[in-house]
Amino acid sequence: MEKRHRFSIWYVLLGVWAVLIIQGYIASMFAAQMIPYSQFLNLLKAGKIGEVAVTANQIQGKMMVDGGAPGETKVFKTIRVDPELSTLLEQYKVVFKGEIESTFLRDLFSWIFPIMLFVGIWYFFMKKMGSQQAGFMTIGKNKAKIYVENELNVTFKDVAGVDEAKQELIEVVEFLKNPGKFTQLGGRIPKGILLVGPPGTGKTLLAKAVAGESGVPFFSLSGSEFVEMFVGLGAARVRDLFVQAKEKAPCIIFIDELDALGKARGIGTFGGHDEREQTLNQLLAEMDGFDPKVGVILMAATNRPEILDPALLRPGRFDRHILVDRPDKTGRMEILKVHLKNIKAAADLDLEKLANMTPGMAGADLANLINEAALLAVRREKKEVGMPEFEEAIERVVAGLEKKNRLINPDERKTVAYHEMGHAIVALSLPGTDPVQKISIIPRGIAALGYTMQVPTGDRFLMRKTELLNKVASLLGGRAAEEIIFGDISTGAHNDLARATDITKSMIKEYGMSDRLGQVYFAREKRQQFLDIGVQETGDYSNATAETIDEEIKTIISMEYAKALEILKTKKDILQKGAELLLEKEKIEGTELKALMDGQ
Ligand code: ADP
Ligand code: MG
Ligand code: ZN
Repeated sequence: MEKRHRFSIWYVLLGVWAVLIIQGYIASMFAAQMIPYSQFLNLLKAGKIGEVAVTANQIQGKMMVDGGAPGETKVFKTIRVDPELSTLLEQYKVVFKGEIESTFLRDLFSWIFPIMLFVGIWYFFMKKMGSQQAGFMTIGKNKAKIYVENELNVTFKDVAGVDEAKQELIEVVEFLKNPGKFTQLGGRIPKGILLVGPPGTGKTLLAKAVAGESGVPFFSLSGSEFVEMFVGLGAARVRDLFVQAKEKAPCIIFIDELDALGKARGIGTFGGHDEREQTLNQLLAEMDGFDPKVGVILMAATNRPEILDPALLRPGRFDRHILVDRPDKTGRMEILKVHLKNIKAAADLDLEKLANMTPGMAGADLANLINEAALLAVRREKKEVGMPEFEEAIERVVAGLEKKNRLINPDERKTVAYHEMGHAIVALSLPGTDPVQKISIIPRGIAALGYTMQVPTGDRFLMRKTELLNKVASLLGGRAAEEIIFGDISTGAHNDLARATDITKSMIKEYGMSDRLGQVYFAREKRQQFLDIGVQETGDYSNATAETIDEEIKTIISMEYAKALEILKTKKDILQKGAELLLEKEKIEGTELKALMDGQ
């Protein structure tokens, strides 16, 4: 762990306090005690006055201390009353002079010395803060932290539950280990890799693991670190970073939280953020300018890919996207295993039960959970961390996450499972739909609730009418499943409905696929308004036609909905089985689903 020394107000207060104490001490050493004139005369007569300085109205000098060591004196001061003093002084043989001793030495000690001390302390802390709080000297210099291989002992073993992402990154490791071999064969090396996923799923960890596995230098910077107070500095920093990286190649440049830097230009703020824009432009220019053959791989992570500037995602820039989603049940078990190595856990720990109790938690939440459990065990003075501690820790962590609205309740989960299963079964039962690759109900993952991933088998330029209709039917399958199972419908289908309606509308208005309206083209060029703010659709057909179009849309959608209902009713047992499997495992692969459909 890196220790951060932050400049804090407490250092200042401590310094001021020290100055006051020292000043008080020094002042008291030199301070003169005010005594009445009568006491002065008594002391004089008793022979206890050492030497004095006399001015027109004040006498200052040294007097012997009562009961003190012989020769110990104390400074005193008194207001002069008797003008005939000198005779008296002479009578008692006191040395006297006509001016007060200079206070230069006293001032020196009580002011200059503490100030020097204070400056010293300040300088010490400034030095400790080092490059963190780069002072005026280092402005524009790079703050990238460079981890050398042996410091960065993160490997793929430390990252669990994200096997697909790991699989894709292994190739990058191979390349970094031996860049020459790759380029000899003419292979194209990815220039920029973007890790996309919700917070806490291990994106930063994965990037470090790639560096750790390949043993190359790792330049790590956070997007927000590029955005500087002074215009132009961020851009200078980017330039500097790439120069440094090229010197150290092969190496990895990792920009964490790319969204802070790469927000689409010109949105959000009016007039834009000059500094960020310049920095982003510089980054784009550097990315275009460097040849991946030198062995510099650019990695970045974000949990908000949708706000990134499209220019960043273009081919030749961050064109390889790797999804790092929240883990499913097995994934959570793997992650728990990784982190359990760091604590002393009981032997009878039921990992599966723990994984069951933590749906929707990301790697960081699980790491936090284990830490909580360990702390609880310490508080209870146990020798090892057991199930009771874990269960209580889960309750605490879940309560925290619930507040942040990141968990869904079991009822919703069930609805989502049947809904997604409905999409999948209808899609698989109809010809011409894209094969289902994966169904997931991991909460707050890539999709808010769940998703059914259909991947086209090839590029399509033409779609048949039946294919479009089947697509509409599978979109409506989610809601149909809800109706069959629960006899009620939920709001979860609004996006499906929007897409189904869009497809149907296009079929009628653009493709002439409606029997009632015939082969007529009704849509008009979508006219762009000022600055892309809105798209206005205009049509030049009669109101009667508009009504017919609306009716046709409704007819087609109802027909397809009826089709979806029909399919799901006949396959209700598969729907049941599939949803139960999904609830248990949270994620089903296409092959498993196929087996289920074939009645195995
Ligand atoms: P992200 O960058 O995606 O927000 P981090 O990589 O910073 O998440 O993860 C924070 C911490 O959570 C890690 O240091 C690690 O302890 C734990 N963690 C997250 N994901 C995983 C994972 N897949 N396997 C093991 N530990 C993980
Ligand atoms: Mg991170
Ligand atoms: Zn849906």
